[in-house]
Amino acid sequence: MAKNRPYTFYDTTSSVCTTCLRQVEAKILFKNNHVYMDKWCPAHGTERVLMADDVAWYRACREVYVKQPEMPQQFNTSMQYGCPYDCGLCPDHMQHSCLSIIELTDQCNLQCPTCYAGSGPHVEKHHSFEDIVRMLDAVVANEGEPDVVQLSGGEPTLHPRFFDILDEARKRPIRHLMINTNGIKLAREPEFCERLAGYGKGLEIYLQFDSFKPEALHALRGADLRGIRQQALDNLNRFNISTTLVVTLKKGLNDDEIGDIIQFGLKQPCVRGVTLQPIQNAGRVLDYDAAQHRLTVSEIRRRIAEQSGLFTLDDVIPVPCNPDTLAMAYALKLEGDVVPLTRFVDPATLVEGARNTIVFEHDPMLKEQVFKLFSTNHSPESQANCLADLMCCLPKVQAPVELGYQNVFRVLIVQFMDAQSLDIRALKKSCIHIAQADGKLIPFESFNLFYRGGRKQLLEQIRGEISQQTRYRQLALVQHD
Ligand code: SF4
Ligand code: SF4
Repeated sequence: MAKNRPYTFYDTTSSVCTTCLRQVEAKILFKNNHVYMDKWCPAHGTERVLMADDVAWYRACREVYVKQPEMPQQFNTSMQYGCPYDCGLCPDHMQHSCLSIIELTDQCNLQCPTCYAGSGPHVEKHHSFEDIVRMLDAVVANEGEPDVVQLSGGEPTLHPRFFDILDEARKRPIRHLMINTNGIKLAREPEFCERLAGYGKGLEIYLQFDSFKPEALHALRGADLRGIRQQALDNLNRFNISTTLVVTLKKGLNDDEIGDIIQFGLKQPCVRGVTLQPIQNAGRVLDYDAAQHRLTVSEIRRRIAEQSGLFTLDDVIPVPCNPDTLAMAYALKLEGDVVPLTRFVDPATLVEGARNTIVFEHDPMLKEQVFKLFSTNHSPESQANCLADLMCCLPKVQAPVELGYQNVFRVLIVQFMDAQSLDIRALKKSCIHIAQADGKLIPFESFNLFYRGGRKQLLEQIRGEISQQTRYRQLALVQHD
């Protein structure tokens, strides 16, 4: 009698062994509507990693939301050791930088139990102003007009030349500038917010906002920050500074609060959206067990649909630049009404869009198409006619003539892969890159695995092994000839 394996074998990819970080082959399997990556390392054996709990979602990411890769204007390293040991960006990378991160400092006024950068008050190191200018120049050299640049850390507002850096960023053709902050300075110093507001449009605060529960805040941040968060938001609302609430998610700790945070964000005039980031096993991660606490994109998507009271599953769609790790849902805020928008966007519209970008309201063509629907005084029926090729149906709302960024509400899921979940096929599409003073742009995931601080020693060891294998191969070829 024929014997079948208890799963469907979808395809193969590459990963790294979680123990030794050497590249290994991996299989993608479907079983009971779950997607697994099976890896095998000759030295450390097999591993099975859950990649998604929804096969249809996973297949849509792999088979529908597939787009021609957009290239940076230049590459910064050569291909010598193979991916992920050549970052970057090397010519084998399949996506430009949608979002470039500039780390200003390793210092922080918190010491979170979860911090991929391992920052804290004990770390003295600020990057020099000159190095930061070089990083900004590196991003512009690669991107021309970068979509989004994020000033990050540690806590970037602690840099003694923070406003000089902001001025430097402003001199460059950066479309959208974000400041990734824990909000302590914004809460305690209204005059700091007032000065930030002076920079006008195109500047956004990326505000850590994980939970309403003190115990969850203690677990993630080491402190009950509820008062600080509210005070920071009061100041941001007062000075009308665009803000995204950023939620670090840990299964069983705060994944039941996704809906409440979205609803809370919708009530804040300054808030343009919520970004949900499941914890990855990188840097400092205390009390983290991947088997218990890891969340996949498909699980978070389902929780949004279950909890938000606004978005359905159809509203949360993969971001085509890197559908394995990014998903988005858009709504329009219209005079007290909130209208989920993404369900009306045909996947083909996103895939055929001229540019690959993580924030599609910055893509002029796409923005025009999507926003046209809501920017006229048509009846719902005539609006449908005018954009019938773009939208399949239409919400029963009448939109104001003028729509701006203040009308957009965006929910993004941003999953960073760690050693366990790393799929090198998806890594090649990573569009969130960390700028270096030497001109390199290194994908976020590989930076945390191989290029941050003490990790470089292991990278050099692996590169040495690969060089040796290459020499053997070349020698074998010569002998064979
Ligand atoms: S992750 Fe990208 S830049 Fe890094 S080695 Fe792989 S292809 Fe090159
Ligand atoms: S996670 Fe952010 S706020 Fe917490 S220690 Fe790290 S840099 Fe500071």
